[in-house]
Amino acid sequence: MPSEPHQTVVVDGLALSREIRARLAEAVARHVQDGRRPPSLAVVLVGDDRASAAYIKGKRRACERVGMNSVEHRLEASATEADVIETVEGLNRDEAVDGILVQIPLPDGIDPNRVAEAIDPAKDVDGLHPLNAGRLLLGQPGWVACTPLGIMKILEHHRIPLEGANAVVIGRSAIVGKPISLLLQRAHATVTMCHSRTRDLAAICREADVLVAAVGVPRLVKADWIKPGAAVIDVGVSVIEGELVGDVDTDGARGIASIVTPHRRGVGPMTITMLLQNTLGAYECAGRPRPRIASS
Ligand code: NAP
Repeated sequence: MPSEPHQTVVVDGLALSREIRARLAEAVARHVQDGRRPPSLAVVLVGDDRASAAYIKGKRRACERVGMNSVEHRLEASATEADVIETVEGLNRDEAVDGILVQIPLPDGIDPNRVAEAIDPAKDVDGLHPLNAGRLLLGQPGWVACTPLGIMKILEHHRIPLEGANAVVIGRSAIVGKPISLLLQRAHATVTMCHSRTRDLAAICREADVLVAAVGVPRLVKADWIKPGAAVIDVGVSVIEGELVGDVDTDGARGIASIVTPHRRGVGPMTITMLLQNTLGAYECAGRPRPRIASS
């Protein structure tokens, strides 16, 4: 028997971001009123990738709006891996820098893993250093990548039950797929991780109470892959003929999913908000041996 259509809530990631950013701004203001310098994020951009430049502009604006400092370090596209690592090491030593983010993609010839390893784990607000990735795996406190943290906030805000839920994550990258799988598992979901070699992806998705698509294949997830009442998080961003397109047929998901994130104002603003949150956290625990921030 066909199930009743669901009243699908289209997640407003921008509104949720604004709420969280207002709280972050209050915390920053309290520190400044107490006579301390504001938190500071250093962003390293290598080359002249236009999309990356636009992303870091958005991050800088977001920092400024909550009263944080944002300092850009631009390196020429011809910079070597050693140049990038030297820049990162300088930022590690700089006591006025709390968080370091190296914008990816990096030009060919620069290994993003080696660059991530060069970042002081205490300032690794993107959660890409092996120590932080390992801590997440082990269930220990540490910095966690911003997009997965933002997804967990969205699920929490919409009171999506995770304990015992079937969660399906499509994508196994270090920045989204793997960490969100671990966070969902930490929240007691039963997690299935899918990727490009997964057989019968549609059938696996149809069992998902929570479906996270972090692939980068436009509208991969069709409406008939979605279990009625599922929470659907669309992380993917592709550009087709100048238009942003996600991994999910979001229009088709309406009336089926319980919640769905839109291509714009969905996961994207939450990613930046979690970057601000991690930077504030790094600032607040500077000088302490371990980050205090937990999973979400
Ligand atoms: P990625 O490193 O390219 O990983 C993509 C993953 O998708 C891989 O694990 C790949 O499998 C899998 N995949 C590719 N084609 C598939 C298919 N047909 N069926 C099933 N799985 C498939 O990408 P990422 O960095 O995780 O990012 C994913 C998407 O999210 C991108 O569109 C990116 O732009 C977007 N993104 C958005 C935000 C945001 O804030 N909104 C943040 C980060 C990323 P294999 O491992 O087998 O290759």
